[in-house]
Amino acid sequence: MIVVAGLGVSGTAAARVLARRGERVVVMEARKGERQVAAAEELASLGVEVVFGEPVAPPEGTTLVVTSPGWRPDHPLLAAAAAAGIEVVSEVELAWRLRPSGAAPWLALTGTNGKTTTVRMLAAMVNAAGRRAVAVGNVGTPVVEAVLDPADALAVELSSFQLHWSRGLAPHAAAVLNLAPDHLDWHGSMEEYARVKGKVFERAGTVVYNADDELVARLAAPYPGAVGFTLGVPRPGQLGLVEDLLVDRAFVPDPRTTAEELASLADVRPAAPHNVANALAAAALARSLGVPPDAVRQGLAAFEPDPHRIQTVAHVGGVHYVDDSKATNAHAAAASLAAYPSIVWVAGGQLKGADVDDLVRRAAPRLRGAVLLGADRELIRQALARHASNVPVVEVPGQDTGVMDRVVMEAARLAEPGDTVLLAPAGASLDMFENYGARGEAFARAVRRLADADAGRG
Ligand code: ADP
Repeated sequence: MIVVAGLGVSGTAAARVLARRGERVVVMEARKGERQVAAAEELASLGVEVVFGEPVAPPEGTTLVVTSPGWRPDHPLLAAAAAAGIEVVSEVELAWRLRPSGAAPWLALTGTNGKTTTVRMLAAMVNAAGRRAVAVGNVGTPVVEAVLDPADALAVELSSFQLHWSRGLAPHAAAVLNLAPDHLDWHGSMEEYARVKGKVFERAGTVVYNADDELVARLAAPYPGAVGFTLGVPRPGQLGLVEDLLVDRAFVPDPRTTAEELASLADVRPAAPHNVANALAAAALARSLGVPPDAVRQGLAAFEPDPHRIQTVAHVGGVHYVDDSKATNAHAAAASLAAYPSIVWVAGGQLKGADVDDLVRRAAPRLRGAVLLGADRELIRQALARHASNVPVVEVPGQDTGVMDRVVMEAARLAEPGDTVLLAPAGASLDMFENYGARGEAFARAVRRLADADAGRG
């Protein structure tokens, strides 16, 4: 009997696929909300039993536990399984084991930030080469469903949680985009977090790594022939930039003497340095599968950036308003703060115990001002006082729906023509909003009201 821990998107998919294969499946789930009850009903029709209530131990006869990403290794159910010698795997590992023979090769990637963007760029590049690639993983289509569909390649986004519970994955190629402290409460330490991310390389046909990221480079060091990507001029065996061109000096006949032009910086949207790194990582994975340079460029051109990731909302009074609500940690916020020369920074939310001193120190020379909201705004204000004491700071207290209007008004007051008002919160949104998307929408609505008022005045 197989136990599926958690009735989320991936757990439900895992239970469904296993039941269709004739396995006896029990799903254990603590929450009994509307969504869970509906999922349980659907699964019941396939003969899956759903047990509601805080799960403490796998039932007698359990041979395998398939766990959901959010579950910590010290969860009583998982700890009890481990103690009883029952194997625990992620839904991704399950998908790997269930993939049919002759299934599509996996192009896998992980990293602290940029995973969703990069798998989507990668799928666009492979599709532009006339082959069918599907972007799967952490968000969107669960891998366990996708492996059963015919495709020419799977662009697989892997979280550190999924990698923790995986051991057999052997992707055609695997990339690590970057590494910065995140989810350390789950993994215990930065060393452990990095180690888990590095597992993606273990059985990969081609190892792709960010040569500008010291921690990532260290993970790739044991793999001879690993392909680096860099925002500098590429050495043989790397992809990188030569002036305003993305070039490949790895997947070419003679890397010592030849370089192949892939695309130009203007093809990369949003045009921020960290996103050029994402494009190079996607290009390396695509090239490992034989995707020609033309298709790399076409894929980048066809790629539509996701909302709330460095998304332009409007230009009002010569000021550029940008929504990067998805910057829910300091590393992501640092990337977008590095992309603009003069910024009114809108930040705040739940810092999840993270330190923002480094972020503030590095951003300080670019800050025209800062407008802070949400639970941990005081911590950001203190960091600004320590490292950017000349930058004017406005705090906007409150939890009501009008907060964003006040935030945008204050930001507009601080900004001068040519500046960027950048929502890059560095924290999670759950203190005030349903999710980062709702926070970005609130910001965009407030900016549009400002634009309307401005047009009315004009
Ligand atoms: P993930 O799927 O890893 O969460 P996303 O593509 O959704 O990544 O982007 C998450 C956030 O990280 C966004 O705010 C984005 O601007 C930022 N980001 C994207 N790529 C990078 C990168 N290479 N380095 C740092 N930050 C990045």
